[in-house]
Amino acid sequence: MPFSGRSFDPTQRPPTPSGPVVDYSLARRSLLVSLRRGMLNTTDVCDAHPELMRAGKNIGEEVADPCPVCSHEAIRWVRYVYGDELKHNNGRVVYPTEWLHELAGAHDHFTCYVVEVCVDCGWNHLVRAYSTGRRYNGASRPRRRQQQ
Ligand SMILES: [Zn+2]
Repeated sequence: MPFSGRSFDPTQRPPTPSGPVVDYSLARRSLLVSLRRGMLNTTDVCDAHPELMRAGKNIGEEVADPCPVCSHEAIRWVRYVYGDELKHNNGRVVYPTEWLHELAGAHDHFTCYVVEVCVDCGWNHLVRAYSTGRRYNGASRPRRRQQQ
């Protein structure tokens, strides 16, 4: 199955995105169109992995938009990071944001995946995937803080 951004499984390392920043809103939109046309069932798309569901409930970032499937205001964003350099942090949920900044200052390269999950119906989809780390920070702004 091609990597569509649907059914994010936090226990499996997702394929490396095709560019430094990959936005999944188009894939998301076409999926929702298929759902509305009856080509997919809600059970096909409301299949959040239990770990993703739990992360969404406990530490997910609240999003103002309602769920595209059940219309409840129950959408949360969860951020996962993957990368060999991260070692024991590979595949972790990164929360809060400061921790992400810390990791980006301590490693050259890793990939961050932002996943939306509805904590009511289990709808889940990738929002975007992007590369981050020192390799990416250094180019845009001078490193001011010296890390010990
Ligand atoms: Zn929902």
